[in-house]
Amino acid sequence: MLTKILKENPMKQHALLILLLTVFILPVTTRAGTLNIDTLGQQTVEAAQKALAPNSVAACLTNVGWASIETQPCNRLFDIFSGQAGISLGRGSLIPVHAAWTDAPWAAFVARPGPKELVMVMVRITARGPVTAGPLNIRVEKGTDFSPFNKVFGKEAFALVSLANGWADKVPFRLLAASRFHGHLCCGVFTGFFITRYILAHFPLTGSQDYIYLGIPAWCQDDLIIAGLNLTPGKHGYYTMSYPWNRPWQTGQKTYDNLGGIVIRRDSKSSGGKAWVLAFDWQTKAFRKFAGIGKTSLDWKNQPWLHVMYNRFFATRLDRPDDFVSVVAARTLDTSEEIQTLIRLGANPLEILLGPDPNWSESNPKPSNKKDNMMIFKPFMREGFMPLPIAFISTRSADKVRNIAPIPASCRCYAPGSDLPCFG
Ligand SMILES: [Zn+2]
Repeated sequence: MLTKILKENPMKQHALLILLLTVFILPVTTRAGTLNIDTLGQQTVEAAQKALAPNSVAACLTNVGWASIETQPCNRLFDIFSGQAGISLGRGSLIPVHAAWTDAPWAAFVARPGPKELVMVMVRITARGPVTAGPLNIRVEKGTDFSPFNKVFGKEAFALVSLANGWADKVPFRLLAASRFHGHLCCGVFTGFFITRYILAHFPLTGSQDYIYLGIPAWCQDDLIIAGLNLTPGKHGYYTMSYPWNRPWQTGQKTYDNLGGIVIRRDSKSSGGKAWVLAFDWQTKAFRKFAGIGKTSLDWKNQPWLHVMYNRFFATRLDRPDDFVSVVAARTLDTSEEIQTLIRLGANPLEILLGPDPNWSESNPKPSNKKDNMMIFKPFMREGFMPLPIAFISTRSADKVRNIAPIPASCRCYAPGSDLPCFG
């Protein structure tokens, strides 16, 4: 019927087009035809408030600081969200999540109606107006099935659920800030928190010193270490080499398991410095006890609730980095050339600092199948293998590296002179 009328009357066809534009486009565009970001923001908050209980928004996670809508940046939405929903960056309830410039914008609003409830509604922000998903209780407990989260929130589900649970669990602001940059709150970010605090506590800087961190191996933690120590690749404070994160380095004499990266403290006065090879002990036995999961295998891929549970386990020990982090080797570096040897193109710092691993091959860098922390794949010496030049590295031994004084229980700050909060 409608088709017939429109066919017979082109004027009515035109009028219908204008009506559709008014309903779907004009609410978020200005008279000049450009997108009205403010109106879009107001509509987004209204949609969230309608989906949740009135005045119940307690936090908002959003990527609007980086994402764009029809090529326009939409960072103005931060102000709209905080003004309309009563949330705040300073209080930690407005949580900007890192995104690519080309990503579509979204905002996920969270309410806490009860201690075991964390209700989220996600709003995808489009030029045609907000599109909501949820609400859904996303509080994670032991064994929580993530399938409903994936179904409702799509590819952002793990990021949203892990970050929102971290916010509700009162994860320290700086840790949450780094995980926003990382894109989600996994337990790998927590390991970076412990590594960072360990470095600040045990290898403090004087005025002429700075750090270089080598992500070998690198995993999620490196994004927190970069943020916590302000070491960016662009400022030449951070380097990484591809190395399987769970592969031990095995020399003829010793197996170095659970490697946790290398930190160098460089001194501009002496031109030298010192390097420490770190290890990270996940304390899985203590975690199993904490989570009450006995000897069940930790299936990280199919049981994402493990991440949130491990985060809670780590959160009970934020003031105990020494429980997790240790030094497995150290080397004094007498010259800037010795430092360069560890970071220049083609360098293998593990080989230089720990000695050659005859099983290692750059062309076949498979993680080992560990059995009782031992590698079980066939040893082989690669053809034409030549150890990197190490003759000019100081041979002063890594003596006493295991005798680093523990952080005293009375410590009020891990890093003298820094403003890191003390959890002790
Ligand atoms: Zn991660």
